[in-house]
Amino acid sequence: MDEWTDDAEVVVIGGGAAGLNGALMLARARRSVVVIDAGAPRNAPADGVHGLLARDGTPPAELLAQGRAEVRRYGGRVVDGVVAAAVRDGDGFAVTLADGRAVRARRLLVTTGLVDELPDVPGLRERWGRDVLHCPYCHGWEVRDQAVGVLASGPMSVHQALLFRQWTADVTFFTHTVPAPTPEQVEQFAARGIRVVDGEVAAVEVVDDRLVGVRMDDGRLIGRDALVVATRMVARDRFLADLGCHAVEHPNGVGEHVPADPTGRTAVPGVWVAGNVTDLTAQVSAAAAAGATAAAHINADLVAEETALAVAALRAHSAPPAPASRALRPALSTGMRR
Ligand SMILES: Cc1cc2nc3c(=O)[nH]c(=O)nc-3n(C[C@H](O)[C@H](O)[C@H](O)COP(=O)(O)OP(=O)(O)OC[C@H]3O[C@@H](n4cnc5c(N)ncnc54)[C@H](O)[C@@H]3O)c2cc1C
Repeated sequence: MDEWTDDAEVVVIGGGAAGLNGALMLARARRSVVVIDAGAPRNAPADGVHGLLARDGTPPAELLAQGRAEVRRYGGRVVDGVVAAAVRDGDGFAVTLADGRAVRARRLLVTTGLVDELPDVPGLRERWGRDVLHCPYCHGWEVRDQAVGVLASGPMSVHQALLFRQWTADVTFFTHTVPAPTPEQVEQFAARGIRVVDGEVAAVEVVDDRLVGVRMDDGRLIGRDALVVATRMVARDRFLADLGCHAVEHPNGVGEHVPADPTGRTAVPGVWVAGNVTDLTAQVSAAAAAGATAAAHINADLVAEETALAVAALRAHSAPPAPASRALRPALSTGMRR
């Protein structure tokens, strides 16, 4: 871990794909940058990162360890810690950690990701990221042609069932506690051969560290190799409250995100966001790209500020123009005419 510093041009809060790629860009832009990271990326339970060009299948921890090394290669610092609060401090920010350390920054890049709130079904949490899944692009290939269940648990559940049908012909939709599918959705399921099971799922059944099915509340066991759930995705934003920067309900009802423009700039001057904290559906590649984009805009913002300050200083220190002497006047005016 790097030595603590109490001052940096940019503090990056969160060291996942978004934060580390942002920090890499800023360090390469010769900015002093500190990444503060609690070390719990969203995909930690997964074996590998899939769909990532040139690094497909790399374990999440290995990818981030390499990212940290790349940031450090350019002089960026990465420290372990949990940010508890960020407040405005003059023309910058004061960031305080849960352990009392503090650092001042001119700009903030917030990349703290999100929390997946899981459906409350006994046994489900323990299987999360292994055979309880959410994203076909992350895990679809791994469960291709297997018996997949989709637990209706959010507004995207019907969509998830139709998507997973692309990877396997054996999909069962459990209506569980949400309203039954509409007649149109029932027709879509029938057309795609997706079975619908009514009733509440009481538990996830596991044998020899492997999901084998779901137990219905009427006692039936329905065999499945994997269970797909829709989590409620909630941005990790609490420490930003004092800055007036906070998550709002996402328009499609899947959770809460911190709104920002396409460059990651929030409504609070000097604060940028990238990755899952703002884009709930971003995969690793998209989160990393957003971190890089935000970093480039932060650097441009600092350059603009520094240029304005330099121009003001230049004007303040420039001597007022001396009146031209009589002898010089003809030459000057000749020069101007040329
Ligand atoms: C089970 C599972 C499997 C997945 N598989 C894939 C896959 O195969 N391919 C793929 O592309 N995507 C996958 N994803 C999605 C992937 O996890 C996200 O795209 C990615 O993690 C988003 O990166 P991020 O940097 O925005 O957030 P994260 O990776 O979650 O990083 C956020 C970091 O901020 C830290 N943090 C949070 N709060 C604080 C704080 N207050 N102070 C300091 N640090 C803090 C966290 O500890 C964490 O290290 C998967 C997701 C899940 C849930």
